[in-house]
Amino acid sequence: MDALKKVILIILAISFMVFVTFFGRLPALRKTPIAWLYRLIWIHFPNLVTSVDQKLTSGRVTGSLVWLFNRLMYDRHPTIVIFFILIMTVSEYLYLPQIWPKISLFTKSTVLVTVVVPYVLLYLACAADPGYITRENHAYHMSLYPYDHALFHPGNECRTCRFIKPPRSKHCDICKRCIARADHHCVFINSCVGYGNHHWFLLLLLSECVLSTYGGVLGLFILKAKIKAMYPMWSLWPPKEMDWNKYLGIWGVGLHGDIRVGASTLLAILISPLIWGLTLYTIFLIYCGTTTNESMKWTDLKEDMRDGYAFRRPLAPSRLLSKQWEPPTPRWPSSPESIIMTTLDGQPPNIEKRFPGEGPWEHVWDLKDVENIYDLGFWHNMGDLFVSNYEPGVEASEPLAERRPRGRSISTKLGRPQ
Ligand SMILES: [Zn+2]
Ligand SMILES: [Zn+2]
Repeated sequence: MDALKKVILIILAISFMVFVTFFGRLPALRKTPIAWLYRLIWIHFPNLVTSVDQKLTSGRVTGSLVWLFNRLMYDRHPTIVIFFILIMTVSEYLYLPQIWPKISLFTKSTVLVTVVVPYVLLYLACAADPGYITRENHAYHMSLYPYDHALFHPGNECRTCRFIKPPRSKHCDICKRCIARADHHCVFINSCVGYGNHHWFLLLLLSECVLSTYGGVLGLFILKAKIKAMYPMWSLWPPKEMDWNKYLGIWGVGLHGDIRVGASTLLAILISPLIWGLTLYTIFLIYCGTTTNESMKWTDLKEDMRDGYAFRRPLAPSRLLSKQWEPPTPRWPSSPESIIMTTLDGQPPNIEKRFPGEGPWEHVWDLKDVENIYDLGFWHNMGDLFVSNYEPGVEASEPLAERRPRGRSISTKLGRPQ
């Protein structure tokens, strides 16, 4: 029983730390205890340790730790991928031989598919080109999406890659390249998630959801059947007349000889909400027609708007686009109707500088007044994720007013609570 308690506590602590580490930076959780804990663990505590070490060893110990941390987090290396594969494989190695004789042929075949598919998708997500932008394919990536003149303005050069950044791209400091429709750099696949592999990443997450949920539920049913055979009064949900000590005590006795299945089942049950959370968040961003990178930019823009640093003016629909700075994007049906700029001093952008647009600049205070031209509705957004060079099937000649409902206002989805 003591060993069981220790295992439960260790798994709980690891799950909680992983949750805080991965979710603490999400803009949606910026003002919640999860973000405060993230800052406490990953910013304030390291700062405290650094200042103590500065006094004691002139910073030598933390210097080495920072070097190691940077190597682990900001260099491409497969350590986390290997760790990820190890966790999956070891759990399955402990779990499968124990449950195999107890399940039907049909269950065996579904278990086999559930176990194999995540490995295949992990390989595809890791091995696929996430959308590296090179000199050779730069023109192609420039033609995929228009600049929205809010998050992405034309004419910005990547100082490392030395070319104009295509709309929705981002330079990744870990991959050391610009990534098309960059979402984020994922240490679990040792690669960026972008235009080329976002669909594999989503399918990998879904397959992990199925694996952890199925593993947890199946393990629970097998353990329940075994314990019920010994204690018919016992049930999975603690019976009213049974106190917690007795309930857990029976669990302990029931797990005797099945501790491998017990530990793997517990890990699956605890980790499953985490994976579901990450998957649903990924699907929510697709529903919003945005990426992790863009959702952070939207959050920054929203704060600038609230502080009075954001301005806009209309862009003429018939304006001439410079082929060099804004090449045509024939497949994309939405185009921006205004330009949004932020300034550092709360004053409108300098009229001397030749920004696009017409007329005077006016304050823009709320995201609800801004249209996200990258959002074509959930199914078109999914189509764009899964099909390379996806054509949303909207005629370019269709009047703008007809098209507007497809590209909804960003705030109706991202919402004000963020
Ligand atoms: Zn770059
Ligand atoms: Zn990257």
